[in-house]
Amino acid sequence: MRNSHPGQPGADDTVQTMGMQYRRRSWAEPYKIKMVEPIRMTTRAQREKALAEAGYNTFLLRSDDVYIDLLTDSGTSAMSDWQWAGMMLGDEAYAGSKNFYHLEEVVRKHYTHKHVIPTHQGRGAEHLLSQIMIQAGDVVPGNMYFTTTRFHQEHAGAKFIDVIIDEAHDPSVIHPFKGNVDLAKLERVLEAHRGRVPYVCLAATVNMAGGQPVSMACARAVKELCGKYRVPVMSDATRAVENAWFIKQREEGYADTPVADILREFMSYTDGATMSGKKDPLVNIGGWLSVNDDAIAEKARNLVVVFEGLHTYGGMAGRDMEAMARGIVESVQDAHIRARIGQVEYLGELLQTWGVPIVQPVGGHAVYLDARRFYPGMAQTRFPAQTLAAELYLDAGVRAMERGIVSAGRNTETGDHFYPKLELVRLTIPRRVYTQAHIDVVAESVQAVFANPQRPAGLEMVYEPECLRFFQARFERL
Ligand SMILES: *Cc1c(COP(=O)(O)O)cnc(C)c1O
Repeated sequence: MRNSHPGQPGADDTVQTMGMQYRRRSWAEPYKIKMVEPIRMTTRAQREKALAEAGYNTFLLRSDDVYIDLLTDSGTSAMSDWQWAGMMLGDEAYAGSKNFYHLEEVVRKHYTHKHVIPTHQGRGAEHLLSQIMIQAGDVVPGNMYFTTTRFHQEHAGAKFIDVIIDEAHDPSVIHPFKGNVDLAKLERVLEAHRGRVPYVCLAATVNMAGGQPVSMACARAVKELCGKYRVPVMSDATRAVENAWFIKQREEGYADTPVADILREFMSYTDGATMSGKKDPLVNIGGWLSVNDDAIAEKARNLVVVFEGLHTYGGMAGRDMEAMARGIVESVQDAHIRARIGQVEYLGELLQTWGVPIVQPVGGHAVYLDARRFYPGMAQTRFPAQTLAAELYLDAGVRAMERGIVSAGRNTETGDHFYPKLELVRLTIPRRVYTQAHIDVVAESVQAVFANPQRPAGLEMVYEPECLRFFQARFERL
């Protein structure tokens, strides 16, 4: 690999990172490869054709036409041999599968909540929680929205109110805990809507802010404030292990604490969680809703039967629950999470070194490109981030995702687009899937697109679905 990369040795065997000189000490992934999956290389002409057929929406590409797939880290993780071995121990009984009890035990241990209701994936849990806790006319404060989370809250009749700190909306501001809740904003909402706040949604890390963490001090303070108003704190715990790693790195007093212990303390400040097993827990499908409250748990067990499956499988096969239980155990190990986030940081450092505009600081699961600075002057209604994702695919077959005006959707009251401040393209790193060489190819492609003097004019939306439009919208080139 090249010597110019950060983390690589210079002539005198030292490395220059963030202005400091280190003697080179590389680290590598805490696993080796036992089975490989070939990927297809394509020509630019093939990619032009594939992208046009996909309506310039990377979600609509066939994965066969993709070289390096950074669309999402959702359900794309590589399982370990121990997880695969667990799949052979699936107990496919309709009721009371032993794999459910294993999963329940592991979730209780690491995420602290008393009741565990399995669901087919995270949005299944969001659906249950929203239907149980929200009445029409309620408001749900949260530290920035996530697409499916907000959808389910609004679908149940609530209005989402963003209470994240202002820094989260500025991609150039450096802040160690950019996912933090602004306590003053939260208190204003709790005060103004007394009796109409069914719960506060605390996401960690905050996906839509760029995978930015929440500090332990903030979680503690949110819990205390909500306690005063008798409002429960429900966590979107999908990426809470990544969050715990950042607390270990950045928050005073946690440097020597194992990530598993940090996670437990963090979750102890919450009353429940919705969880996507497709993220931190290292499986391809699965999720759960966990709560401490007995009455909410009972309602969830009643509802899960209708929408997901019996309360001891919730839409998952026994083998899938076993893989997830084992995935959780692996996910909270320091060596794993260090390598996972280390790979994301490596990509971020390369791009930063080359002057490519990215969201700072680099978050837990992805590097976010600031599309506004790739295409200054392009109107937001020409979809700069969607355009950039298309250009990236054309350059080298790297698939990324838009996180801007298309993802933000429309205001149901006015019918107009939401105009988010952030117009981003997300390069999401799947867990344990790609090597450092793949990451180098990605960085070089992004740099080439950034440096390309031929600027695209943008896109026009020619088909727009009603819900979560970013998944299936189609575009044409301007
Ligand atoms: C993925 C995700 C969800 C939804 O989970 P699914 O398993 O995709 O349904 C919710 N919140 C966050 C932060 C996520 O990343």
